[in-house]
Formats: sequence, C-alpha cells, structure tokens
Amino acid sequence: MDRFDTLRAELARRCPELELRSQEPMSRHTSFRIGGPAALMALPKTEEEAAVALRTAWEMEIEPFFLGNGSNLLVPDRGVERFLVKAASGLDSCRIEGNVVRAGSGITLARLSVLARDSGLTGLEFASGIPGTLGGAVTMNAGAYGGEMSQVVRSVTCLTRAGERETLTELAFSYRRSPFTDGSRMVLGAELELMAGDREAIRQRMEELSVQRQTKQPLEYPSAGSMFKRPAGHFAGALIEQCGLKGLSVGGAQVSEKHAGFIVNRGGATCSDVLALVDQVKRRVLAQTGVELEMEVKILQ
Ligand SMILES: Cc1cc2nc3c(=O)[nH]c(=O)nc-3n(C[C@H](O)[C@H](O)[C@H](O)COP(=O)(O)OP(=O)(O)OC[C@H]3O[C@@H](n4cnc5c(N)ncnc54)[C@H](O)[C@@H]3O)c2cc1C
Repeated sequence: MDRFDTLRAELARRCPELELRSQEPMSRHTSFRIGGPAALMALPKTEEEAAVALRTAWEMEIEPFFLGNGSNLLVPDRGVERFLVKAASGLDSCRIEGNVVRAGSGITLARLSVLARDSGLTGLEFASGIPGTLGGAVTMNAGAYGGEMSQVVRSVTCLTRAGERETLTELAFSYRRSPFTDGSRMVLGAELELMAGDREAIRQRMEELSVQRQTKQPLEYPSAGSMFKRPAGHFAGALIEQCGLKGLSVGGAQVSEKHAGFIVNRGGATCSDVLALVDQVKRRVLAQTGVELEMEVKILQ
C-alpha cells in the first residue's frame, strides 16, 4: 500500500460520500488532452467534503494540487504522484443580489458570464470565452480584451492547506498572479461586484468577442490557450511569428498556423512534444529578438 492508497482509505473512512478516483488519466481533465494518470483525485461536492480532503492530506503531509478545468495546465506523460482536488458539481452555485454575484469555484466563466448578462450586469463580458472555472480564473487573474478578474473580484472564500476556511478581501493581484497562485489555498468561491448595464449591449459585446476568438484563435484544436506570458512591450505571438516559427512542429505539437502564441495538439501530442517545442521556440526567439519568453501554462509536477 503506498501513501495515496492510505490517504484514499482514510478519506473513504472519514467521508464516505467523497468521490475518489485512483490513477485518473489527466488527458480527460486538461484542454490540451495530454497527461498520464494522477495518483489520486478527490472531487468534493461541498465545502465540508473539500475541508475533510485537505485536512486529511495535511495530517498525512501530502501536498494537494487544486484543479479547475485544466485549461492552463500541462501534465507529464508518465503521470504524476500527486493528490488532486477538483471542485465538482455542488461547488458551482451562483447567487445574484443586486450587482453582487456570489459563485462557487467550480462554475465555468462561460456560465457565469451568461448568468450575469441575463441579470443585466456588465463587467464580465471579457471572461465569456475563457474556458476555465471561477477558481482557476481567480488564481490566474485571467484576463482578456482589457478586462481581468482583479477588476471584478471583491472577496474570495478559500481553504488553507490545513482545511481551515478563510475569506480574503485584501487581494494582491498582478499580471496572471494572485494570492492563490502559489498553491497555498483552495479557492471555494468568490464575490464579484459588477455594474448594472443594458442586457442587449452586454449580449452584443459577448458575441463580438466570441467572433474575435473564433477568427483569431485555433479553437479547432486542443490547446491551453496562450503558451507564453506577454513580455513587457511585446506580444509573444507576434515575436514568434516574426521569427518564422508558425507551423513549427515536434511530434503532434505545433505552433499554431492561425495564432503563433498558441501551441496546439494536432493529434497524439505528448507532454514531451510540447515541452521540446516550447524549448525550441524560446531559444529561437531569444536568439533572434533578445526577448526571453516565459511560460504562462503551468506544468503539474
Ligand atoms: C482556447 C483557450 C483560450 C484561453 N484564453 C484565455 C484568455 O483569454 N485569458 C486568460 O487569462 N487565459 C486564457 N486561457 C487559459 C485558461 O483558460 C485560464 O488561465 C483559466 O483561468 C484557467 O482556469 P482553469 O479552471 O482551467 O484552471 P486550471 O488550468 O485547472 O488551473 C490553473 C491554475 O489555477 C489553479 N487552480 C485551479 N482551480 C483552483 C482552485 N479552486 N483553488 C486554487 N487554485 C486553483 C491550479 O492549481 C493551477 O495553478 C485560455 C485557454 C484556452 C484553452
């Protein structure tokens, strides 16, 4: 029996209703459709289940990894000896009162922005095409088209690794970073403050942004979105294109021909293919432009 079997047995004893999966293929949980098995995954449906999962792992000195929709994640082909906690349905509620939206970490941004639109609330249109959960978006301070989560998040309820509940209102966000990026807390939910707006204008803006994404981004292939952070004063995609790297491939991984900032899985790509391609792109962009690219996509180790 390894320590994940022991953790599984203890979790099943303490919380029989908690869904647990051993050796769960991560290709099912990432938008890249890449990744070997994770040793153990818990899918809590309530805050209490999540707290038991974290507290038990804490007592056994097993560090959890918090998973959202896996849309900013690359997982090694051999899999990971990790305990993953993924908010399941039940942690995806949404309540709207006036211009305040209270939602669970598991709700998708697509659903959340539609609910805000239907309540005549503006401010979340930018997020409608980002394929993540609220928990992942708060953690990554996800942003697009001039908006980012920091502009709308008022407070975040979370669990410490020891399973203690906290509500944070002083939130130091920066570019693709938040107080949660270091993995020290699991986001359970957030309170967003939006503004009253015109429902038809909100719908039109969301439609406009969706058309822009479909025109410019390779949504027809699995990917994790922009592979690299935006370097100061530049756009990663433009630099990569300028270096003539559009279409460059390693195995099934390819620098998208449509948008050079994306690496896509053209079929059967492995994590090693993606990382080898990232390495080539970084080396050639540095040599030709002097700019050092940094990965935005997280690698689960
Ligand atoms: C086609 C495509 C387009 C994209 N466009 C954009 C874009 O315009 N702007 C943008 O910013 N991003 C974009 N992304 C990237 C991605 O969708 C965002 O980063 C998103 O916010 C990630 O959310 P997720 O739920 O998938 O998180 P995951 O990928 O599962 O996790 C990302 C990080 O957040 C952490 N995390 C997830 N959930 C929790 C939680 N509940 N508590 C604590 N930590 C947690 C994880 O540990 C990990 O470090 C795009 C991706 C794709 C595939």
